[in-house]
Amino acid sequence: MANVIVVVGAGVSGLTSALLLSRNKANKITVVAKHMPGDYDIEYASPWAGANMLPMADDENSRWERRTWPELKRLTEEVPEAGIHFQKARVYRRVKDEEANYSDTLFHANPWYMSMLPDYRELSQEEVIPGHDSGCEFTSVCINTVIYLPWLLGQCVKNGVIFKRAVLSKIQEAKLLSHTGQPANIIINATALGSLKLGGVKDTAMIPARGQVVVVRNECSPMVATSGTDDGETEMAYIMQRALGGGTILGGTYDMGNWESVPDPNIANRIMQRAVRVAPELAGGRGIEGLSVIRHGVGLRPYRQGGVRIEDEVLEDGTSVVHNYGHAGWGYQGSYGCAERVVELVDEIQRGKN
Ligand code: FAD
Repeated sequence: MANVIVVVGAGVSGLTSALLLSRNKANKITVVAKHMPGDYDIEYASPWAGANMLPMADDENSRWERRTWPELKRLTEEVPEAGIHFQKARVYRRVKDEEANYSDTLFHANPWYMSMLPDYRELSQEEVIPGHDSGCEFTSVCINTVIYLPWLLGQCVKNGVIFKRAVLSKIQEAKLLSHTGQPANIIINATALGSLKLGGVKDTAMIPARGQVVVVRNECSPMVATSGTDDGETEMAYIMQRALGGGTILGGTYDMGNWESVPDPNIANRIMQRAVRVAPELAGGRGIEGLSVIRHGVGLRPYRQGGVRIEDEVLEDGTSVVHNYGHAGWGYQGSYGCAERVVELVDEIQRGKN
């Protein structure tokens, strides 16, 4: 029996779920969303991401990132038009940030991902930048989201997925939005922060984690991330150069509960100052005067207290919903692992019905 599936949401979570589901020709898939690739909106996190792979989960919860890396690596090697390139990443740690960062594996010594990401090594003291105590280096990727999101959409279309704009006030409405004209028997909820207000879901565990960035024309390799800054708890320092001339992202902030969509010029100034401090070569040693700004941006990471929600639920009318939302700051680097779980859940639902 064919599965009539409506995916709600066209960010990286909805698109990757639709792509993996569309590999099964028995699935008739429609993606409906308020925002689509090409849009820039505060309610749409995906275009604002760097996006790179800097693992954050602890070993126990590492499935999503572990299962995603091989596919990102394959795409980088074999599918240049997807807009992903390899980049070395350097992570610098300060002892004084250890307590604040105890849950973030990225800054642990000997993390689980040292066996996954190629060329992992601890930096020598001479390689650690001033003001930091230790660090490591490994090969990662940087995804140009401007290229990658339309590429994902195109791969879905090639597999027969139909895309439609729609703004839902409750998840049940998705049932009547399939292009087939038949009612959907499975809905995939990939609405991220939208799940806070979406009727039938209204998940109050969802909180925005505001991220402000500056995108510059300057190029800089390796990518950089530091364990903390002296500019306040919500401020971070990271640099990543996007593939295919996509510019370099300077970050940033991680500000929980802040919905402000307008970039703050003072924060932007601090982001640029920190970037040229950790990587003077970024601006040819000329300080922030040497930066050529493309744009300032703000995105809201879809943070969920208690972690990502990937599970199925049966609505009162018998429709099955598979949720895939709440990826905070790791939606790309966990995208294939999470979408793979969505496929498993859809297959289980289908088996239960047969
Ligand atoms: P979204 O992209 O927000 O998509 C949600 C979709 O649901 C949209 O299409 C929206 O229109 C739709 N929707 C919502 N409500 C409704 C409704 N009621 N009706 C119809 N449609 C609806 N991740 C990484 O892996 N690596 C990084 O380096 C990285 N860097 C980041 C830097 C910044 C500054 C930010 C902000 C995020 C970063 N992230 C990174 C996190 C990543 O961007 C998110 O985890 C990811 O984009 C979430 O994708 P999503 O598809 O779940 O949500």
